[in-house]
Amino acid sequence: MSDTRTTAGKIEKSEAEWRKELTPMQYAVLREKATERPFSGEYDHEHRAGTYTCAGCGQTLFESDAKFDSGCGWPSFTRPALESHVDEERDVTHGMVRTEVLCSKCNGHLGHVFEDGPGPTGLRYCINSAALKLQPK
Ligand SMILES: [Zn+2]
Repeated sequence: MSDTRTTAGKIEKSEAEWRKELTPMQYAVLREKATERPFSGEYDHEHRAGTYTCAGCGQTLFESDAKFDSGCGWPSFTRPALESHVDEERDVTHGMVRTEVLCSKCNGHLGHVFEDGPGPTGLRYCINSAALKLQPK
């Protein structure tokens, strides 16, 4: 396994570079914190086994065995593949208090985490499909 510490390896790019590399949907989600429409993302009903990596930088974010069908319209996971690969920040926009989930390597916006998930974590990582890339096993 590779070294999982990523603080030294942060990826920093200009917004122009990101705009060139990402699709408009990926850019809107990762860099502008947009949320894709529910039930619209390509991984909402994805059941293949594999590893979900960051669409921005390729860092491993979630494993398919942590994915569950929450019915909320976005891919949902009970836990990240590695705690150190996601950052969590308090988000008080849109009149709600939520916890934002970001990729720890490129600082891309992934989605939010809620405390209404199934056991054992009780967490629901509600993630935009556009922020993810599935690497099927
Ligand atoms: Zn990333």
